[in-house]
Amino acid sequence: MSVPQKVNLLGFSREHMEAFFLDMGEKKFRAQQVMKWIHHHQADHFDQMTDVGKALRQKLTEVAEIRGPKVLHEGISRDGTRKWVFEADGGGAVETVFIPDGRRGTLCVSSQVGCAVDCGFCSTGKQGFQRDLTSAEIIGQVWQAGRAFGPRRNLGEHPITNVVMMGMGEPLLNYGEVLTAMRIMKDDLGYGIGKKRITLSTSGVVPKIDQLSQDLDVALAVSLHAPNDELRNELVPLNRKYPLAELMAACKRYSDNITHRHNTITMEYVMLRDVNDKPEHARQLVKLLNGIPVKVNLIPFNPFPHAGYERSRKKDILEFHKFLNDHGLLTTVRTTRGDDIDAACGQLVGTVQDRTRRAERWKKSVFHRTEQADGNAASV
Ligand code: SAH
Ligand code: SF4
Repeated sequence: MSVPQKVNLLGFSREHMEAFFLDMGEKKFRAQQVMKWIHHHQADHFDQMTDVGKALRQKLTEVAEIRGPKVLHEGISRDGTRKWVFEADGGGAVETVFIPDGRRGTLCVSSQVGCAVDCGFCSTGKQGFQRDLTSAEIIGQVWQAGRAFGPRRNLGEHPITNVVMMGMGEPLLNYGEVLTAMRIMKDDLGYGIGKKRITLSTSGVVPKIDQLSQDLDVALAVSLHAPNDELRNELVPLNRKYPLAELMAACKRYSDNITHRHNTITMEYVMLRDVNDKPEHARQLVKLLNGIPVKVNLIPFNPFPHAGYERSRKKDILEFHKFLNDHGLLTTVRTTRGDDIDAACGQLVGTVQDRTRRAERWKKSVFHRTEQADGNAASV
C-alpha cells in the first residue's frame, strides 16, 4: 500500500493556506499563524508552533510538511556574495545568489531547472530545459537563504531586502508557480518585500508580460541585448516568436498599467565584444526605446567555458554607456559580483563544479575577467 504524499505548506500563498485550513474544518486565522511560523520564524516542524494546539499540530504532522529544497553546496565570495546550490526534486539542481550592497541585500532566485530559451551567451540556456520549479522550491530558496542568516526578530530586519527573479530559467514560462511564490514574497505573512523591491526578469514572453500586469504589481526587467530583430533573433531565439515591435508595445502597456510611480522598466543589455557593442547599436537602441520609461543596465558578459563570446572591451562599454546617457537614457553598468564562486549572471549552471580545475581553465582562457567596467556601478 503506498503512503499518501504529504502536502508541502511552504509553497502555499495566503489564499491557498486559508482554503487548506477551511477544508480541514479549522478557522481561517490558523493560516496566518502557520504562515508566520514558516516564513517569519523559519519553522520546519509543526511542533515548533507553540500557539497552535497540540491536537491540530498532530493532525498537521499527519497530512502536511514544511520542506525546503536541500542545500547541496554553499559558497561565500570574497566580496560577500553568497551562493547556494539546491537539489531539485526528481534530479537536477538550481542556484540562488545573495548580493549584499550596503543596506541592501538582493537575493537572485531561480525559476526553472535549465531553460528552454537557449540564449547562446547564457550557461543556463546551454544546459537545455529540464523542468519547472514548484512554488515551494521557488519560495524555498528565500526560506533557506533566510535560515542561513539566522532567526529574525521582525520583518524590517531581514537581510534580504530585494528579490530578483534573475537566476536560472525563464520565470514567465513557469508563470503560475512563480506568481504564487512572488505573492508570498510580497505578503506580510510571508516576507513583506515591497513591490518595487521584487523584480522579474524576462527574455520577452509577450502574453505573460500582459498577464503579469493584471495579476501582480512588481518591477519588470527585460533582457533586450540587441537593438534590432536580426541580431536579437540570433542572441535571444525567443525573439523569432515575439519580435521587438511586439515586445516594446508590451513594455509600454506594462508601464502604463503599473500603479506606483516608479513604472520604469529595466532593459538589460549584455555587452558582447564586437557583437552588440558598436556605436551603431547604441544609436539604434536610443531610437528603439524612445517613448518608453526605461533605464538601461549594461551587463559586461560573464564568461564560462566554451561560451563562444567575449566580454566587450572596457573602452567600448564606457563609450556605449556615455552615448546612451548623453541621449537621455539613464544607464548604469552592472558590477560583476561573486564571479570567484561562479555566482555572476549567466554563470549559474546548478552543478557543484570542481572549482580548482575550473579556475585553472579560466586562467588559461582568453577572457580578462579581472577587468571591471565600473562606470556607474549598479549591482542587479
Ligand atoms: N531568463 C530570464 C532571467 C534569468 S537570466 C532572462 O533572461 O531575463 C538573468 C540575466 O542574466 C538576463 O538579463 C540574462 O540575459 C543575463 N545573462 C545571461 N547570461 C549571461 C552572461 N554570461 N553574462 C552576463 N549576463 C548574462
Ligand atoms: Fe534562459 Fe534567461 Fe539564460 Fe536566456 S538568458 S537562456 S532566457 S535563463
